[in-house]
This record gives sequence, structure tokens and C-alpha cells, in this order.
Amino acid sequence: MASHVVGYPRMGPKRELKFALESFWDGKSSAADLEQVAKDLRCSIWKQMASAGITYIPSNTFSYYDQVLDTTALVGAVPPRYGWIGGEIGFDVYFSMARGNSKNPAMEMTKWFDTNYHYIVPELGPDTKFSLSSHKAVQEYKEAKELGVDTVPVLVGPVSYLLLAKPGKGVETSFSCLSLLDSILPVYKEIISELKAAGASWVQLDEPTLVLDLESHKLEAFKHAYGVLGAELSGIKLLLATYFADIPATAFKTVVGLEHVSAIGVDLVRGEKTLSLIKEHGLPDGKVLFAGVVDGRNIWANNLVASLSLLKELTASLGKDRVVVSTSSSLLHTAVDLKNESKLDAELKSWLAFAAQKVLEVVALANALAGKKDEEFFSSNAAAQASRKSSPRVNDAAVQRLAKDLHGSEHRRATPVAIRLDEQQKHLHLPILPTTTIGSFPQTLELRRVRREFKAKKIAEEAYIKAIQAEIAKVCKLQEELDIDVLVHGEPERNDMVEYFGEQLKGFAFTENGWVQSYGSRCVKPPVIFGDVSRPSAMTVFWSKYAQSLTARPMKGMLTGPVTILNWSFVRNDQPRSETCYQIALAIKDEVEDLEAAGINVIQIDEAALREGLPLRKLEQAHYLNWAVHSFRITNCGVKDTTQIHTHMCYSHFNDIIHSIIDMDADVITIENSRSDEKLLRVFRDGVKYGAGIGPGVYDIHSPRVPDTEEIADRIRKMLDVLESKVLWVNPDCGLKTRKYGEVKPALINMVEAAKKLRAEL
Ligand code: GLN
Ligand code: ZN
Repeated sequence: MASHVVGYPRMGPKRELKFALESFWDGKSSAADLEQVAKDLRCSIWKQMASAGITYIPSNTFSYYDQVLDTTALVGAVPPRYGWIGGEIGFDVYFSMARGNSKNPAMEMTKWFDTNYHYIVPELGPDTKFSLSSHKAVQEYKEAKELGVDTVPVLVGPVSYLLLAKPGKGVETSFSCLSLLDSILPVYKEIISELKAAGASWVQLDEPTLVLDLESHKLEAFKHAYGVLGAELSGIKLLLATYFADIPATAFKTVVGLEHVSAIGVDLVRGEKTLSLIKEHGLPDGKVLFAGVVDGRNIWANNLVASLSLLKELTASLGKDRVVVSTSSSLLHTAVDLKNESKLDAELKSWLAFAAQKVLEVVALANALAGKKDEEFFSSNAAAQASRKSSPRVNDAAVQRLAKDLHGSEHRRATPVAIRLDEQQKHLHLPILPTTTIGSFPQTLELRRVRREFKAKKIAEEAYIKAIQAEIAKVCKLQEELDIDVLVHGEPERNDMVEYFGEQLKGFAFTENGWVQSYGSRCVKPPVIFGDVSRPSAMTVFWSKYAQSLTARPMKGMLTGPVTILNWSFVRNDQPRSETCYQIALAIKDEVEDLEAAGINVIQIDEAALREGLPLRKLEQAHYLNWAVHSFRITNCGVKDTTQIHTHMCYSHFNDIIHSIIDMDADVITIENSRSDEKLLRVFRDGVKYGAGIGPGVYDIHSPRVPDTEEIADRIRKMLDVLESKVLWVNPDCGLKTRKYGEVKPALINMVEAAKKLRAEL
């Protein structure tokens, strides 16, 4: 029985690549140093997979920045502004595209399907001339071969590459990148021929767009592309890999019908319907199924017994030599190695598997299918599954009951928003176009040091509290001086908006090295939600109460919402995500009500990541939005009319979910928008009625640039064209945590001045 891994994390078990990249970018080390670190990482991964016994080991899944950018280099599609004059693409041009250079900003980056990984969006146009311009795939193949490891080179497939691209600068927005298919295929043919010449017998083409709702002409493009490639290549087998969801039935038909494709990779963790399609229709003779049963998107140990029985069903219908055990997607989206977790207890660890452990699971399953079951491995896995299932750390009957009771009820505030806003205004006495900020203020090195030392128990609680309170007082005073209307305490006690809450909630665990690449050298370390969630005691009341005591102006309580906590964590897989979300919602509800009881009249519940969790397939989106929005409403349905609930959202692609946003029924929403005014305003121009308060960010906090008063005033005017003045708020587009006071102060001065100017004009 053969085994396969779709792809592997690049960062290294201790983020070695991150540090090597950043040191190179800072000019502190040489290109050769960086290359050496990269080489060592690749080498150790290949050796690890080879010694574990993986049959099909991937190569070219390493990347210095991003695999889509690597493909842009492969086909030589460098946007003209980066000044590339041909030849093999090196670090200079490559990192200019990724990070910008002195003359040009970086290329756009966007989310890779529904993961937290971001890829660099290719920019194409009618003048794009493709040519083979990077031999990285061949070099990596040869590098592995020299180590005695024969690998399967992995490329982003040509159709997905074009579907993920956008028209470049100066190109008509209606330009179809897919129209370039015939000119990109020769480059794929060339690179695959070179791989074959180097000795490769398989090549893996990743075509994850096949799981989306594709129109028929896009499916035709697959037929065309693989028809051309297959007909012109011989002696090398093509594995077409899909992942992240079910393959829709029509796409499935197309894929299995591709004559020259020898094998198809499917995600069987998220692809229940794909499994039924395979069971129902089988696969054409000779085609091999790469069955992705080990989850590439999560950190849980596989249920080996369940996977084995699924695999046995597949081999019974397809035959043993036509099933290869695989991962559901690249392991890029999970943590690297459990071995480096010294602080998690043994029981919890037994429930987990990071990338290195998942490789062993794949092999164990393949061996078991071949009749060589590692009894010890299987029985310790079964014991861990059983302990997880029955553990009192996981199961809290009271929480489960409360969460169950939520179903069937809508949890809406009793009074309509227009009336609530009037009631609130009687107490808040806000001017028209009220000003506020999103929550965090700059986090100085000193502040980070204080938090770190308190955590390490190097300073006493008393001293810590004093330091944080001093920071809150400073931020509060500054906002009064700036004459901001609704204040924030600045979040100095928080390292991260999810971690801060996770650490105080039951059911969460934190890793030391469970990093996952987000983009380039940037990694995130999601908390692990392993059990039923509850809140042992208040989490923010102490600080918010103190902050409010310093001022007569309203001080916003500041919470992270349940959907965002969920979407930025590794979530348990033994119950629906919605159930976990409801549990978190109940915990946040308790906090909201405690804040209200403590005299906090304005409470912001951030749902920065609500949009991010939207399922890929349209069919599943309504269900998600329904429980996500419901969870948000649960948190605040119990407050008085006079308590004003704010929410905040990042990223501006809301047009398609605007009705869900309205259904959240917050009193005020602040949203990131400063990079796409037009898009957002179009919704309202098109007639969507928004009766609640709304604060589309008036300046971009992601840039150090200080906008002047007139520029901000102009943007407010534009918004006033489509929104009523009584609903409009004035605020930056996100938290100020990553900025410096030298930038924040003048920007906020200009923002308040602009608001005042507009008030005078109204
Ligand atoms: N309240 C958070 C802050 O201001 C919100 C951050 C976010 O939206 N990502 O930092
Ligand atoms: Zn934000």
C-alpha cells in the first residue's frame, strides 16, 4: 500500500526560515546563509518522510515566500514595474514582488481559499508573455535525489493559477486571465519535461479551484489543459490534487474523465459528498485515488480505526493498488512538530498530531491496509481517542445543556435599533458624527516587557497592575486632550485579541511552537479549543471599570466576539463548529452583562474574522452566516436598550454579506474600509438601508502615513452622500496597536478636526 503527503510546512519546527528570511531582508546575513537554512530544512523534511516510509514524497512545496509567487516566477509573469529583464529569476526580483522595493509597493496578497494563508495574486494581461524563468522545481527534485530520496515535484496547476490571477495594472478589469491558457501550457510542458529528464516519474499538479462552484467554461478549461499536457507528455504520470472541500458533482465528472491524468487527490475530511460520488460511480479503469484521510487543516490525532475502515471500503471497491493513503491537503496549514511542546500535559498531547505526527499516521494507515498493522501504534491511538471522548476536561454537561437550549430561539434585542439609539443618546449626549477609535493604542517595547515579565513571574502582580493602569490613564488622558467622544482603554493588557480571552476561558490550551504560516515570514499561533468552553470569572471588567473611573466620557468595554475567537483557533473536530461557537457566545454574554452591571454603557464586541469563516461553496454559506450571526446576537441580546453595542470588522469584502451584517443588529459597526471606499459605498448607493450607526474607517492604519484633515474630511463627505449624517461615525479603520505614537497622535488630531469641520458644514 502506498502513502503520500500533499505538502509540508516550510517554516521549520522553530520558525528557522522566518528568522533566516528576516535577517536576510535586514541585511544582517547573506543570500548564501538564507539558502543554507532553506536547504537544511528541506533536507530534514525529506529524510523524515523517507525514513517514516512515505512512498510519494513531495518536493517543491518549500517556498521562500509563497507557492503562487513561485509559480509566477516559474512562468516569468513578473509585472513590468519590477524591472525584470529576463533570465532566471533571483531573490531580487522575487522579493520585490513579495515585499515591494524602493520604487514600487508589493503585489497584492489575498487569502488562500478559506485558510489563514495568504498568497500573492498574479497580475496578468493580454501582453503577458510566459517563459520558463525559474528552475526551482527541478533544482529541488535533484537536491532530494542527491540525498537518495526520489520525490514527486509539486506545481500549482495551470488552470488554478490563471483562475487565481487578476488583470494587472492598466489592464481592462473585464480581461479573462483564463484566456491565456494556451500560452501558459507550453511552459508547463517544458518544466514537466525537464523534471522527467531529471528522473521524476510523477508530477503533482495542485488544482484546488476544482472544489469551488465553477461555471462550465472553467471546467472546459481543465479538459483542454490536461488534454494538451497529457497528449504531449509521455513517461511521466500526472497526479491532480484537489483539497479543502467536496468536489462538486459536475466537476467530479470532468476530473475523472481526464484521460491523461493518472491519479486524483481528494480531501475526504471535508469531502463527504466526494466520498459518496466515488462509492457511487467508482473511478474509470486504471485511475488511482489519493485518499486524503489525515486532516491537513487541524492539529487533532487521526481516528485511525475510522480512517482504516473508510480506506478498506475504498480498496474493496477500487482494489488495493488503486488507493493511496494521503493527507486531506498540504500540511502547511497545521503546526510542525508536537515534539517541541514541553508544556502541554501528556494526556492533551496524546490527542494531538502536528505535521510530523501526521506523516506517521499516513504511513501507519497504509501499512495496516497492507496487512502490516502496527498494533502498538493503533492501540495507543485508540486509547487516546477514548480518553478524549470521555475526559471531564473535554465534557462539561452543564455547558452542553446551556448551549443546546440556545437552538430554536433567535436571541434578538426586544427593541428595534432606531429606538435603542434614541434611548442611548439620552444618556450619551454624543455630537453628530461622533469620533472613536477601534480599541488598541500603540504598544511600546516597555509595555511588552512588563507583560512578558509578569507572565514569567519576574514582577509582582501589584507592580504589573500599576504599570497597566498607568498606561490606561495615559491613553485616556490623551483621548480627552484630542477631544475624542467615545474613549477606549487601549488594550495594554492584551498580547493578542484572541489569546487574551482564550487564556481565561476553560477549554483552551496554548502551544509553545504551534506556529502556522500566514504570509511570507509571518506566522500565527492559534489557541487549541479542546473542550467545552466556559468562563470561570470576569475577564475584562477590572480594567474597563478602572478606565471608566478616569473619565466622564463614555469608555467602551472591549471584547472579542465568539466567531472571531472560533475562526482564529484550532477548533475541536468532535462536534460541529457551530456548537463550539455557541459555547463561546455564552461565555462572552456573561462578560457583556458583567460589564453592563459595572457601569459600562458602550461595549464593543469585535468580529474581525466573521467574513473569514465563510465556507467556499455557496451552498454552505447561508448555514454558516446563520449560526455565526446568531452567536453574535446571543452575546448581547440581554442588555438594556440604553447599553450601546458596537462591533468591529476587518477587511472590506462585505458587499455579499451585508444582509447578515445588518442581521447582527449591533447599534454601531466600525469597519475597515479605507482601501476600498468605493466598494463599500456602492452597497448603500444601491439602496441597502442601514439604520444603525456605522463608522467606515476614514484612514488606513496599516500604513505609517499621516492623512491630512482635508483628505479625511473628503472621505467623510463621500460617505455622507450615501449615508445619513445621524448614523455616521468617524474612526480609523482598525486598532492602532502596530503604529507609533508619532503617527497616531497627528492622525487622530486631523481626524477629530475633520469631524468638527463637517459638523459645522451640516
Ligand atoms: N479591538 C482590536 C484592536 O483595536 C481590534 C483588532 C482587529 O480588528 N483586528 O486592536
Ligand atoms: Zn480591524
